[in-house]
Amino acid sequence: MKSSPHELDSKLAADLAARERAQLLRRRIQLDGPQAVEVVVDGARLLSFCSNDYLGLANHPAVVAAFKSAADTYGVGAGASHLVSGHSRAHHALEEELADFVGAPRALLFSTGYMANLGVVAALAPRGSVIFEDKLNHASLLDAARGATRAVKRYAHCDSARLAQLLAHNSGAKIIASDGVFSMDGDLAPLPALAALARAHAAWLLLDDAHGVGVLGANGSGSFAHWGEPVATPAILMGTLGKALGTFGAFVAGSHELIETLIQHARTYIYTTALPPAVAQATRASLALVRTESWRREQLHAHIAQFRNGVAALGLRLMDSATPIQPILFGSTERAVAASAFLRSAGILVPAIRPPTVPQGGARLRVTLCASHTSAHIERLLATLAQLPISP
Ligand SMILES: *Cc1c(COP(=O)(O)O)cnc(C)c1O
Repeated sequence: MKSSPHELDSKLAADLAARERAQLLRRRIQLDGPQAVEVVVDGARLLSFCSNDYLGLANHPAVVAAFKSAADTYGVGAGASHLVSGHSRAHHALEEELADFVGAPRALLFSTGYMANLGVVAALAPRGSVIFEDKLNHASLLDAARGATRAVKRYAHCDSARLAQLLAHNSGAKIIASDGVFSMDGDLAPLPALAALARAHAAWLLLDDAHGVGVLGANGSGSFAHWGEPVATPAILMGTLGKALGTFGAFVAGSHELIETLIQHARTYIYTTALPPAVAQATRASLALVRTESWRREQLHAHIAQFRNGVAALGLRLMDSATPIQPILFGSTERAVAASAFLRSAGILVPAIRPPTVPQGGARLRVTLCASHTSAHIERLLATLAQLPISP
C-alpha cells in the first residue's frame, strides 16, 4: 500500500507545482565531461554559452596537471580549518601571489565567494552600522547585509548621486557594497565614484569582482585595474576563483589590518574547512596563465565585439555591457523561456534568466562568451538567433 505523503511534503508539492505553472521551476542539467564550450548533455553535444569559465582554464592541461601533482603531495582534503591545521604552504603561496596580482598588501582565501561576502560584511559591521547596496547586487552581497542584521539601504542601479544622499543622511559605521561587473546585466559599477564616496564618508567599499577578475584590466586583475583605482583602504576587493580562474574558491584583498581582522572575526573563514590544497596549487597554475597569456583576454574581447555587432543587426535588445556577460532582453518569462528552448533544439545552450533573479519584466537570455569559443561558434549562435520564431 502506498502511504500518503506527509502534509509538510504536500505543502511543498503545491508550491513546486505553482512554480512549474509559472515557468519558474529551476532545473539542473547533467554534464558528462569537463566544463568547455562544447558540453555533452544526455548524450548530445551542445554548444554552450553559459559558462563562467571565461578564459577556458577550467580544463587546461597545466591546471589539471598541477591539481593531480598536488593531490600526490597533499592528498585530497585539507582536514581542518585554516586556523587549526588546514593552512598549507600551497594556500599561503597562493595568497601571496593573489595579493601581488591585484596590487594589495595582503589577500585571504575563502572557500567560496558567497562565504567571503558574508564574512567580510559581518566582520566589519558593528551594531549600528549601515550597509549600502546597489539594487542589482549579487544575492550573496544582499544576503551578507541581511545576515549581519544591520540597517540596509538599497540605491538604484549605479546611481552614485542617490548613494551620496543616503550616505549623508546616515551616521555610524558604513559599508558600501557593489558588484564590480553586475552578474545578470554585465555592466560595470562606477568604481571611481564609489571609491570617492567611500573616502569622503569614511565608509568601507566592498567590491565583488567575481566577473571582473581575469577579464578586465591590462593584466586581468579586474575592475580596479580597469578603472585605475588602487586596491587600498577604504576599498576591499573580493574576487572568486571559480569563474575566469577556472578552479574554485575566493579571496579577499586589502590592507594588512583588514586581513588580520578577517582572520580574527570572519566567521565564514574561521568555522569552515580550508579549501583542498590541490585546488590552491591548481589555482596558482591558472593564475600564471592569466598573467602571462593576455591573448585569452584579447580573443574574448574580439568575440564580444563580434557578438554585439551581430545581435544589433538582428534587431534584438542587448544591454549596455562590454563584458562576457551579454544578456538579450525579452521582457516576458514566456518569450525568454521559448527562446532558450528554441536554441536548445538547435543544439545551443543558453539559459533563460527569470524573476526573481532579475526584476519583473526583465526576463532575458543570458549569453556568456569565453576565450575558448571560436569565431565560427559565435556565427552559429547569431545564425540561430536570426531564425528565432519569437519577437524580442
Ligand atoms: C558567482 C558569484 C559569487 C559567488 O561566488 P562563489 O565562489 O561561486 O560562491 C559572488 N558574487 C558574484 C557577483 C558572483 O557572480
